[in-house]
This record gives sequence, structure tokens and C-alpha cells, in this order.
Amino acid sequence: MSEPLFPFNHSYAGLPGHFYARQSPTPVAAPRLIKLNDKLARHLGLDPAALRTPEALAVFAGNAVPENADPLAMAYAGHQFAGFVPQLGDGRAILLGEVIDDDGKRRDIQLKGAGPTPYSRRGDGRAALGPVLREYILSEAMWALGIPTTRALAAVTTGEHVLREEPLPGGVFTRVAASHIRVGTFQFFAARGDVAGLKQLADYVIARHYPDAARDPQPYRALLDNVIRRQASLIARWMLVGFIHGVMNTDNMTVSGETIDYGPCAFMDAYHPGTVYSSIDARGRYAYANQPGIAHWNLARLAETLIPLLAEDQDAAIKIADAALAQYPKRFDAAYSNGFARKLGLWTVQEGDDALAGDLLARMDAGNADFTLTFRALCEAAADDARDADVARLFADPAAFMDWAPAWRERLADEGSDPADRRAAMRAVNPAFIPRNHLVAEAITAGLAGDFTVFERLNAVLAQPYEDQPDAQRYTLPPEPHEVVHKAFCGT
Ligand code: AMP
Ligand code: MG
Repeated sequence: MSEPLFPFNHSYAGLPGHFYARQSPTPVAAPRLIKLNDKLARHLGLDPAALRTPEALAVFAGNAVPENADPLAMAYAGHQFAGFVPQLGDGRAILLGEVIDDDGKRRDIQLKGAGPTPYSRRGDGRAALGPVLREYILSEAMWALGIPTTRALAAVTTGEHVLREEPLPGGVFTRVAASHIRVGTFQFFAARGDVAGLKQLADYVIARHYPDAARDPQPYRALLDNVIRRQASLIARWMLVGFIHGVMNTDNMTVSGETIDYGPCAFMDAYHPGTVYSSIDARGRYAYANQPGIAHWNLARLAETLIPLLAEDQDAAIKIADAALAQYPKRFDAAYSNGFARKLGLWTVQEGDDALAGDLLARMDAGNADFTLTFRALCEAAADDARDADVARLFADPAAFMDWAPAWRERLADEGSDPADRRAAMRAVNPAFIPRNHLVAEAITAGLAGDFTVFERLNAVLAQPYEDQPDAQRYTLPPEPHEVVHKAFCGT
């Protein structure tokens, strides 16, 4: 017998039948491989050469189901823009199974856009190629930045069109995740009063993601604490690179702490805390600066679902949930302040540092300064004050930076570290390259016209975000006025 393409090792499929619906992908007309992530494939214990064969293409397109797969669509609920929907579920995603990666970690392999499922509601179960390319670029860029995220294993075109406002070329995206369990997955069982299901889910999540919690005298409290800790850290990481998720519904928040569901997400160019790109977020619920508070709100929804498990007595359970939730702001603030200190070249966090950071951000906001370029230029200024002018020229009024710099220098002087070390440490946290919207748009436009070289090149540049890449200078630049992308859309 030949080696299987995917050495699947199922666990979610072993949970009770009402956790999911067994569902095979629906074949497409004429699939073509656009991109395979060789490095990720190897990390997952897969053979990239075997994944470039027609047999593997058929799997990535949903035209063939490997014998050892157990395809299913997961059930979940969720608050969408604060409105509760008791049943959502994978409407266009099918989990093929899990594999164990080189680190011994279990990873889901899921097809997104592989056809309808019992949870599709009015949707067609399909994905357009543009959002497939977008999720590929953005999720791999996040990974290269060091931020927990689902990943991209492959992208294919289908040779079919999907009908949106107009017919668009279709695609299927192969997503890899620590798991696809969401806050909304817990809400699915809680909304049905299914405490047995809830407990099975919680035990499964503990075993898969937080095995230490199993040994805690209060395992479900430990589970909640762990999810809160991971999310506080994750959202801080987003904020520190200017990432805006765009649709932080509870069904788009994992319990593993990975970023998931790259729809209308985007990175800010100029720093403005109220920035919103999502075309469906008219009121700015998911604006950049709202993300820490929204995550807290979502975690409160998770905590509510766990009430039946936290204690026998409901009042006691509510107290436990409240105490856990009260930790979130502290955890977020600590992660954010520490991360910001590092962006500024500080090793420690001192009183007054938050004010120093806040003052810089206020000046960036007023001065329309590019978020990424400002911090990258600051790395050079930290080692050589002759480079201050390079930072200052990013501000509409360069004096705004020059007036701030002395307080920063004074603070750097307290730490007394070697300027070269400081510069190197800052360059490791302040990226030169982010997936700027206009670059992503450029790659998608070319891809839709059949030219994937722009997509390839962008992915290659974004794979090393902290390195100077002298031949990639244009990728560091903010958009020209005519290149600015104002809106981002849903719908991988
Ligand atoms: P999202 O806003 O992308 O997180 O999706 C919210 C819900 O809508 C999820 O349950 C999706 O599976 C479902 N959904 C989104 N697009 C489609 C589609 N084209 N066909 C079926 N279901 C969809
Ligand atoms: Mg979603």
C-alpha cells in the first residue's frame, strides 16, 4: 500500500453526532493549483512533491476525498454584530481531518469554499478567488510576523464562477488551524441548554489546547483563564502591528488564541485609532481601537456559556466567571504595555511609559504618520539621533515628532543599553513589511487576470517582515493617494 497523502488522525469526528454534520465536498469543474505552502506542508509531516500531483489537487479542490478522511462541517452559533444567531456552523468549510505536526501538535486541515453543507443557510458554500488570495496573503503574513494565526496550506482555482454581485472566479482555500473551535461553538451548546454537550466540548478543548487545566482543581475555570490569557495576548499583538480584524463576531474568535477568519481585515497605513475598513461595519463596532474591548465582550459571552460547569451553585459560578473576566483588562494592558515598550526600545516598563507611548500615538494620529514606517524609522533613530529627521518627515508637521523625541531619549538613557543592541531588538519587533491593502489589492487584481507572479512576489517579501530587503523598497511604502483602498469585503 502506498503512503496516504494525509496521515489523518481524527479526534473531533469522535465527538457526538450533533457536534457536526458529516459532509463531503462538492466537486468543481476544472481545478488548478495556484499555490502550495511547501514549508508548512513539511512541518505537517506532508510531502510537498506528493501534494503537487493530480491526486492531491483533486483533494484540495474537493473533487476527491482521501480514503482516510472523515469530512464534516462543524456546528456553532455566534453573536454577529452583537445579535445572537443560535445556529451558524460551517456553511462553506469542510474539515477533512487532523494531522500531527513536527511539534507533536494536532492541526485541523479544512477546505474553505468546498460547497454547501447543512449549515449553508442561503449561501452557496463557495468562495471567490479574490478573498482566497487575500486570506492566503494575510494569514501567512501574520504568521511571519510571529502572531498566532490559522495558516494557508494551499489555494486552487475551480474553473467555475461564483455568483456574488457579479460572477467571480471561484477558489478553494486549504486552512490549517490548531483547531476551528470558536467562542460560538460553546454558545451553540449553551443556547440549547445542552450541558452534557457543553461539558464534552470543554473537556475536548482542555485535552487539545490546555492539558494543564485538566490537573487544576477547577479545570473549567482554568480553561476560561487560559482562553482569556491567550486572547489578551493575541489582541495586544494585533494592536502593536496595526491589524484590524474587521469582524470580531464570537464565531470568529478561536478558543486556541489563533487569529481566524480573514474577511474584511486590513492593516492600517496612517495611524488613526478609529480606522474601520470593513464594508459591513457601518457603525465602526470593530474599529481598530475598539478591538480590546470587543474581545473582552466576546470573552464574557464565553464565560456565560461555562456557568453550568464552573460551580454547582449558579451565584458561585457567576462570581468565578466575573473574577476570571476581571483579569482580562490587566492581562491585555500588560501585554500591550510590554509590547509597546519593546517597540520604543525599552526593556522595562516604567511609570510614565504609557503616557510617553500615548503621546507619540496622539502625534501620529494628528500628523497622519504611517504606523509601520514610524516605528521602523524609530529603530534607526534609537541608535543615532542624526536619524530623527527620517522619523519626523513622516509627520505632517515634523516638529510634532521633534518635540516628543527628547522625552523618549531621556527614557532610553535610563536603560543604558548599547545602541546597536537596542536597534537590533527594535528591528525584531517593528516590521518593515506588512500586507498593505494596496499591495494585496494589486496581487489580487493580477491574480484574477491569471497572473499569479505578483501574488508570489508579495508572499515572498512578507515572509521576512523584519529583514531589510533592499530590492523590495516599494513594498515598504504607503499607498499613493490614488492607490488608497478604503474598504475591505467579507467572503473568502
Ligand atoms: P463569516 O462572516 O465569514 O465568519 O461567516 C459567517 C457564517 O456565514 C458562517 O457560518 C459561514 O459558514 C457562513 N457563510 C459565509 N459565506 C457563505 C457562503 N458563501 N455559503 C454558505 N455559508 C456561508
Ligand atoms: Mg466566520
